[in-house]
Amino acid sequence: MSNLSLPHDPHQPHDHDACVHDALAAAEHLCERAGVRFTALRKRVLELVWDSHKPLGAYDILDTLAREDGRRAAPPTVYRALDFLLEQGLVHRIASLNAFIGCASPEHRHQGQFLICRQCHIAIELDNSSIQDAIAASAKGFGFQVEGETVEITGLCAQCQAAA
Ligand SMILES: [Zn+2]
Ligand SMILES: [Zn+2]
Ligand SMILES: [Zn+2]
Repeated sequence: MSNLSLPHDPHQPHDHDACVHDALAAAEHLCERAGVRFTALRKRVLELVWDSHKPLGAYDILDTLAREDGRRAAPPTVYRALDFLLEQGLVHRIASLNAFIGCASPEHRHQGQFLICRQCHIAIELDNSSIQDAIAASAKGFGFQVEGETVEITGLCAQCQAAA
């Protein structure tokens, strides 16, 4: 498990089923090691978040679950599942989009930095420790203790620039 591939450019053609498969396998492994339950709902919510490399809002997840079930999934249950996935580091929350994205390397704790395309909404995770170090060092100058440090960088992805 030590050799999970780094996040690649999700725009490049790739076997996305393998992304989903790897993410679910990593989640099972991580939950087992942490001694927490990876329930069917938690798994399904993670699967939905991994449906693409675009951050997914809680309402989209609720809608899909409602369609599948034929009845409305209780929002608090889904929010609790998302909280669980966040706590385990299996997903990241993109505050600027109020949405969630799956993490490709949940086995090491990090907050991550995201390049977010304002046009197609794809989010590319950087997970660059030198950015984290720079934030920590700058904050330290103010005697500030960093708790949340998810960095969201907005712009246009290569594909949207090419299409413009
Ligand atoms: Zn993929
Ligand atoms: Zn991550
Ligand atoms: Zn784009």
